[in-house]
Amino acid sequence: LLGFFMILFLCFTPDKSDHCFPSNKSSSNIPWLETLNVDGYFSFDDTEHAAKDFGNRYHFQPSAVLHPKSVFDISSTIKYIFDMGSSSEITVAARGHGHSVQGQAQAHRGIVINMESLKGQEMRIHTGETPYVDVSGGELWINVLHETVKYGLAPKSWTDYLHLTVGGTLSNAGISGQAFRHGPQINNVYQMEVITGKGEIVTCSEEQNADLFYGVLGGLGQFGIITRAIISLERSPNMVKWIRVLYSEFSKLSKDQEYLISTENSFDYIEGFVIINRTGLLNSWRTSFSPNDPLKANQFISDGRVLYCLEIAKYFNLDEYDSMNQKTEDLLSELSYIPSTLFTTEVSYVEFLDRVHVSEIKLRAKGLWEVPHPWMNLLIPKSKISEFAHEVFGNILSESSNGPVLIYPVNKSKWNNRTSLITPAEDIFYLVAFLSSAAPSSTGKDGLQYILTQNQKILDFCNKANLEVKQYLPHYGTQEEWQAHFGPQWEIFVQRKSTYDPFAILAPGQSIFKKGS
Ligand code: FAD
Repeated sequence: LLGFFMILFLCFTPDKSDHCFPSNKSSSNIPWLETLNVDGYFSFDDTEHAAKDFGNRYHFQPSAVLHPKSVFDISSTIKYIFDMGSSSEITVAARGHGHSVQGQAQAHRGIVINMESLKGQEMRIHTGETPYVDVSGGELWINVLHETVKYGLAPKSWTDYLHLTVGGTLSNAGISGQAFRHGPQINNVYQMEVITGKGEIVTCSEEQNADLFYGVLGGLGQFGIITRAIISLERSPNMVKWIRVLYSEFSKLSKDQEYLISTENSFDYIEGFVIINRTGLLNSWRTSFSPNDPLKANQFISDGRVLYCLEIAKYFNLDEYDSMNQKTEDLLSELSYIPSTLFTTEVSYVEFLDRVHVSEIKLRAKGLWEVPHPWMNLLIPKSKISEFAHEVFGNILSESSNGPVLIYPVNKSKWNNRTSLITPAEDIFYLVAFLSSAAPSSTGKDGLQYILTQNQKILDFCNKANLEVKQYLPHYGTQEEWQAHFGPQWEIFVQRKSTYDPFAILAPGQSIFKKGS
């Protein structure tokens, strides 16, 4: 089995200086598409959009884009390709909202499926004792939020940004400040409808087709296309008390974060970020927040040091205002932040969850949203985080960073380890997200090349110091790297591929398996 996949395996190292692979724009390399009977339609001329993503660096032109109106459109397209056997080179990529950063939702000369076409299907909310929402895989999380709060309900686990699709984040993990308590989004799914690489429509859950269920969750789109998901809900609060405090020592921040994620009745959201001089964050971290003690807050001077911000939130309804404030004060009294840097605000629950969209609107207005995004996300074991912070924030990034650097721990005990997601082995690990934006055409410290070199320096340090780091939203070019990423899980990943997508038709942009060679 492994031998078979070695042949299929992609040692796919696209030219790093140019990730553009144009394609013949006519339908001629897939002539049968025009004869396939679908409820939606194929488009052949406006495929540029499908060759773009948020990363703005990879541009693989597909031959066609399917705008499905039904799951049968997707299954019959894949089945047709599957029936052509291993000699056909045609691949299929589900495209959610295209917010990958390295071409993961693209298919060079293949077919991209615009999953958002499916989202028109009705969202069904079950309000009983175990509430859930039954939603299309192409639905945006922001729409799930707006619809569920109408019933006083909401999903438990989120991403920081909600203009992403359900299928897109469930193919990765979906990690945010609630994951310490509820696990990532992939741990809050009851059931899915999936179309495999053979074109079969399969319902799967913990009880039914469990191997496919766990394989698809965090499976980087390799085993099936998620067309529906049933997601667990909880009662939604009306309001959120949102708090930011600063630390000048990383050890104090991490001690407090680890205390908070392990305490009963803690905050409902726990994150943090690094404030590196000259990023502009030094001035903006408290915009829209009010100081607890305005006089002392004005006296606070940073001295150009690297600072660390703990970001926490407590959910509440208006009739719980006093008890929420008391609980918040009690929790804050246990922490060691710089006292003059306590800043708070109160916003609606929807405003809080949709907070990054506000920045998106501002950045778009300045033409700063559609720039290259050489993002890097790392999962770092707790035992190695201080060594990591010392070298990365104290040395590699001590002078500049080109965007937010998030850092917060999560409890693995709250995560289901049967999914395809790969994490470090320790019970507590940190997510560290380097969310850089590159200035187009710059060759300076804000340019793409500089940021990529900095990312590589961080990775080299992690390898050299043996920090046992895992990449989140990983992207590799060689067999050795993918195998090292999966470690002991590699064999099961390969086995699932041979079971559910034996001709490696699905998600070619992940560059894990290559079709037809
Ligand atoms: P796409 O980029 O369209 O697709 C991603 C992958 O999933 C591709 O391989 C694609 O083929 C596959 N895929 C898409 N739809 C399906 C489907 N229905 N079935 C099977 N496979 C499918 N992630 C976090 O965990 N936490 C965060 O806080 C967070 N914040 C973010 C903020 C921003 C501004 C951005 C741009 C990204 C953020 N992400 C975060 C990353 C995000 O979760 C992933 O990039 C996710 O894949 C994007 O969803 P999408 O719908 O755009 O997927």
